[in-house]
Amino acid sequence: MDLLHSINDFNEAKQVIPGGVNSPVRAFKSVGGTPLFILRGEGCYLFDADNHRYIDFVQSWGPLIFGHCDPDIQASVHTALQNGLSFGAPTEIETALAKEIISSYEGIEKIRLVSSGTEATMSAIRLARAYSKKDDIIKFEGCYHGHSDSLLVNAGSGCATFGTPSSPGIPQDFSKHTLIAEYNDIDSLKACFETSGHVGCVIIEPIAGNMGLVPAKIEFLKDLRKLCNQYGAVLIFDEVMSGFRASLKGVQGYCDVVPDMACFGKVIGGGMPLAAFGGKDDIMNLLSPVGGVYQAGTLSGNPIAVSAGLASICKIKKNPHIYEYLKSLADRLTQGFQMAAQDYGISLQTCVRGSMFGFFFNTSKVNNFEDAQKSDTKLFAKFHQKMLENGVYLACSQFETGFICTSMNESIIDEAINAAKNSFEAISREI
Ligand SMILES: *Cc1c(COP(=O)(O)O)cnc(C)c1O
Repeated sequence: MDLLHSINDFNEAKQVIPGGVNSPVRAFKSVGGTPLFILRGEGCYLFDADNHRYIDFVQSWGPLIFGHCDPDIQASVHTALQNGLSFGAPTEIETALAKEIISSYEGIEKIRLVSSGTEATMSAIRLARAYSKKDDIIKFEGCYHGHSDSLLVNAGSGCATFGTPSSPGIPQDFSKHTLIAEYNDIDSLKACFETSGHVGCVIIEPIAGNMGLVPAKIEFLKDLRKLCNQYGAVLIFDEVMSGFRASLKGVQGYCDVVPDMACFGKVIGGGMPLAAFGGKDDIMNLLSPVGGVYQAGTLSGNPIAVSAGLASICKIKKNPHIYEYLKSLADRLTQGFQMAAQDYGISLQTCVRGSMFGFFFNTSKVNNFEDAQKSDTKLFAKFHQKMLENGVYLACSQFETGFICTSMNESIIDEAINAAKNSFEAISREI
C-alpha cells in the first residue's frame, strides 16, 4: 500500500513534535508501521494523506456517534461561529447542555463543564476528597481516567495495595494515596478499603473501555456501591467514554446503581474539546465559587464546543432508538469477526455495549486487566495491518474499544467482515 504522504508527514512531524503525535495512542507503536495522517472524514469514512478511504471504527476515539461531518452538528457550530469564538463569560447554551446531561443521569443534580476528560476526573477527585474529608482513593487496574498524577498509577507489588507511578516524572509521594484494586473482584476492593482505613473515593469505568472493552458485572457494581456506603466513600463513575455511547441513561440507567458523581467527555462534545463532572447537590456545592474547592478554566464551556455538544446530545435525544440500531450493527460486526476468525482456528473473545465493541485474541473470556494481558498482541498487530490494507481503520492497539456510528449500515459492516475474512486468510498464509 502506498503511504508516501503519511510517511513523509510523519517524518516531518517527528522533527518538531515528540514522536510525531500529540497523544501517544496515535503513534501505532504497538502495531508497527506509520500512523496515517488524515485529510478528512465523511460519515463513517476516513481519508488519509494518500487519499485511501477507510471505514472508520475509531471515530476520534469515541466522540463521533453520528460520524464525521454530521450536518446538524456542523450547522450548530457554524451558527455559533458567527457570534465569536470565546467570551470567558457565561452563555445560555451551557445551561442547556447541563440540563440535557442531568436529565439523562439519575442522581446527577449539578454539573460543571471543563475541556478534557483528564480535567473532569482530576477535579471530581479533588471534590470527592473535600466532601469525604479523606485523602485515599481507589482505582482499578486497567481503568484509565486521564493523565493526572494521582491517577497514573500501577499496582506495585500486586493489587489491593498502594500503587506506584506508571510514568517517570510523578513523585512516589503523589501515588501514595492511590490504591489499586482488581476490576470485577470485590474481595480485592474490600482489601483496599481495609488496608487504607480512610478511603475518600472510588473511581471506576463502569464499562471499562481502556483495557479493551470489559464491562463491570452488575453484581460487582452493586457490591461496590454497598462498600462505598459502608466506608463513607464517594463513588465516581467515569463515563467519559461510555456516557451517551453505550446507552442514553448511563450505566445507572440499567443496573440500579447510582453513583455520587459522574464524569463525561467524548460524546458530550460531539468532536470538540469538552468534558464535564457532576454529582449530587451537596457535593457539587462545595465547588468554588459556592464552596471552597478550587477549579477553573479559561476556555471551560467554550461556546463552539458547547454548540457541537448540545447539537449532538439533542440529536441523540430526538433519536433514542439509535442505541438499538448501533448495537445491532456492533453485534453483526463482532459475530462476523468471530466466525471469520473461527474459520482459521483463531479464538476471539468479543463484547458489545451499545455502540461500543471490543475483541480480544484470547482463548478465554476477559473480566479484568490480567485476563486482557493474556491476549495475543502480535496477532492483533498483524490483523490491524491487514485490515488497513483492506480499507478498515481499527484502533491501533489490542487494548482499545471500537465504535460504531450512525452513518454505518449493514452493508458497510459486511464490508468490514469481508475485510476481516481476507485479513485472516492472508495471515494464515504467512504463518
Ligand atoms: C478518554 C478518557 C479519559 C480522558 O479524557 P481526555 O479528554 O483524553 O483527557 C478519561 N476517562 C476515560 C474513561 C476515558 O475514556
